[in-house]
Amino acid sequence: MEEDRHAWERPGAFQVGPGVYRIPLPLPGDHLKAVNVYAIVDGDRLVLVDGGWAMADSTDLLDRALGSLRYRIADIRDFLVTHVHRDHYTQAVAVRRRTGSRISLGEGEAANLDATHAGWDEHPDVPALRRAGAPQLADLVRTWSSADIDLAQWEYPDRWLPDAVELTLESRTLTVLATPGHTRGHVVFVDRQAGALFAGDHVLPHITPSIGVELRRPPSPLRDYLASLRVVGAMPDLALLPAHGPVRPSTRGRVEELLAHHEQRLAATARAVAGGASSCFDVTRALTWTRRERRFDELDTFNQLLAVHETAAHLEVLVEREAVTRSPDESGVLRYGISAPGGGTDASATSRG
Ligand SMILES: [Zn+2]
Repeated sequence: MEEDRHAWERPGAFQVGPGVYRIPLPLPGDHLKAVNVYAIVDGDRLVLVDGGWAMADSTDLLDRALGSLRYRIADIRDFLVTHVHRDHYTQAVAVRRRTGSRISLGEGEAANLDATHAGWDEHPDVPALRRAGAPQLADLVRTWSSADIDLAQWEYPDRWLPDAVELTLESRTLTVLATPGHTRGHVVFVDRQAGALFAGDHVLPHITPSIGVELRRPPSPLRDYLASLRVVGAMPDLALLPAHGPVRPSTRGRVEELLAHHEQRLAATARAVAGGASSCFDVTRALTWTRRERRFDELDTFNQLLAVHETAAHLEVLVEREAVTRSPDESGVLRYGISAPGGGTDASATSRG
């Protein structure tokens, strides 16, 4: 079973449709092992969906994979990047510097790139972690300096992509669909004629995408994500071409699973509040994590941070649904409680009081 789950990471260039090749590229670290970029043959050049993580091993593998198709990295005319996370964006920037290819990115990511370039005195997650009742994690994040960011990896794209714009390539037309949630500016690319969705990290076959891991987190990233899932779920069924994991024949079934997963998570989050967990951090500790149902204390620090942000996103939706109440205590930590039975009126009166 485990072997099966990792088969998609094997290097190469795998045809997944007419003129479309899946190319898994390596990632550093031991969490996610690979990211798929998709090479689309377009006339005598290539269009790549996503770029990979800028590092020598990844560039070598991309070079070899394209070589097996009788192309070179210099043949890449365009990078269409689904979102601004490092494993999708930075190698596109590195390749552009060498070969002059063009980069397109969803316009919603401008806020995140602007924040990267502006830098910070205090990392923007610090106040949120204090309000979540996680002062140790806040202190850790406070040591993250924007001076450590290599801005050369985060140069701006050549073109911002608005929602619903059609990209007319020589070989096909791709429709851009804004799918905020994983990040605020995430986009997917729909190839209607081929019946395929270049899904980035919006819909993944094996794992549930993290929500709102970005410098400029919107007010309710999970609400945005669920709405974006419903947009894709309402489309005719498409082949799923994900950025992590194998290609699957159906987008719709996986969208339903992801929606169901978050409803279960919302219910578990509400139960934790009902059980007495009153801060976001308490709730995070009361829940289990990853598909292996790990306890919070078993997670490494980075995944603990992801877990707190994920819980905050779920609590936000529960507040919006008036299933839980929220108010700050005297130290500024947000405290959650279960809404009075019989409706939202009491709840909203309490939370605004
Ligand atoms: Zn990714």
